[in-house]
Amino acid sequence: MDCPNEHGRMELKSMARELPFRGKRVKFRARHYVCPVCGIEADDLDLGAANQKAFSDAYRRTVRLLTGEQIIEGRKKLNWTQEDLARAANVGIASVKRWETGQIQTKAMDDILRRILGGKEASHDAYTGNRPLSLARIKLVLGKFSAFLERNLLRPTDKMLYAAKYLWYADMVAFRETGQGMTGATYAALPHGPQLNNYADLVVLIREAEEGQAEPLTEHEERILARIAKAFPSNQSIYRAAHKEQAYTSRANGELIPYTDADRIKAV
Ligand SMILES: [Zn+2]
Repeated sequence: MDCPNEHGRMELKSMARELPFRGKRVKFRARHYVCPVCGIEADDLDLGAANQKAFSDAYRRTVRLLTGEQIIEGRKKLNWTQEDLARAANVGIASVKRWETGQIQTKAMDDILRRILGGKEASHDAYTGNRPLSLARIKLVLGKFSAFLERNLLRPTDKMLYAAKYLWYADMVAFRETGQGMTGATYAALPHGPQLNNYADLVVLIREAEEGQAEPLTEHEERILARIAKAFPSNQSIYRAAHKEQAYTSRANGELIPYTDADRIKAV
């Protein structure tokens, strides 16, 4: 690359950088073309992308998220393609490509990736209802509820205050009747009722999930959803009922609600 100030060829130099990002000081090594005469710095496209990746990986190391290399390594250990990982994590292949090349995943997504890549099947976990978490299935269940209720449960700015209660009943009743929840979601007892654990991170991912990739609902599961929708036609009715459930009231603020409490569910 030549100097834009017409000093001839620039030199490729590696240098230590420190940038503030999301409340942290991120230290990383960047490479730039530098003019030996006027000192001006420039990147070409490849260098720009490499610097962006170095920065993103340094930030991810700082806050203990998996780096792009770690995601690639973990995937290769399982002999998986990017598509295999996308399917397991219930995301589009574009997301996997972006995380591997430098986009920063959320903490919730990082937890999911670690679980999948670590080979730690959570399928018999008391907090996931004997099912791996499926964001696509959460979206599928919310879509089915919306159809039964004739109103949209997942609106654009929704924080899932009510939608999560419909999900909670669906998962708990399904677990009670079939020994398996519907979505693999984990719930916490929050002041406003049972809520998806990490809901603030998950809600974005749920909205982006593709319900077509989810395991279809069984007839029994559909009947459960119909019963819940019939029992709670309004948000207020499910809000009140959930607050009275012992499975909720017996838990401290922030405590996780195990699926084994499903036997205590009274309203459905
Ligand atoms: Zn120059």
